[in-house]
Amino acid sequence: MGMVEEAFRGIWPDREIKYDFSIKYSGKFKGYNANVKMAGGKIMFSLSRNWKQISKDIKIGLLQELLARLFNEKITTPNIDLYHIFLKKVHIAVPKTKTEPMLEESFGRVNEKFFAGIIEQPNLKWNNSSTKLGSYDYGSDTITISSMLKNADSEMIDYVMYHEILHKKHKFSSKNGRLHYHTREFRSSEKSFPNSAVIEEKLKHLKPARSQAKKKFRFFKFF
Ligand SMILES: [Zn+2]
Repeated sequence: MGMVEEAFRGIWPDREIKYDFSIKYSGKFKGYNANVKMAGGKIMFSLSRNWKQISKDIKIGLLQELLARLFNEKITTPNIDLYHIFLKKVHIAVPKTKTEPMLEESFGRVNEKFFAGIIEQPNLKWNNSSTKLGSYDYGSDTITISSMLKNADSEMIDYVMYHEILHKKHKFSSKNGRLHYHTREFRSSEKSFPNSAVIEEKLKHLKPARSQAKKKFRFFKFF
């Protein structure tokens, strides 16, 4: 039995396997990212090359999590739990190669002011998103900030940076097969940023009119 079959059986012991599974290791992913695609009867997993050296038990957890997302089912297994533990610790092993001067300054200010300087600097980069002001990616330990903020007041950048650092700090919790990022604890930490209500209002005006919804900081892509 292949590893994907084993992962599949660990979730659905009795379900018929009517798919062709494949796993490919790819250099296109940063850190420990991965994804899965289904086309026809084929289910194709792509994993960052770094996964090659990771133990099978953890890898099965990753495959199970991807299967659960693919089939849109809420699932918990011992392997998924193991994979979550791995994901919460993996930032220690991820190389820090990316930085940008303006983001590094913001990170430094926020780290000193709110975290007594104890948060290890993640990879920092800009992107051109017009729908998300920021995101944190666990698999590559990367904070990405939208370039819409490049000309904004430093307190606005700092506020988004603070939000993303909180993701790095608080990680996530898993309940009934679902991952929670913006927990009550997270939200209460978030409010301790001075002037946060006013800044939130200002941030809304940065956004294109049609996507002013609450999606602002939606965290995405966490593998
Ligand atoms: Zn968030």
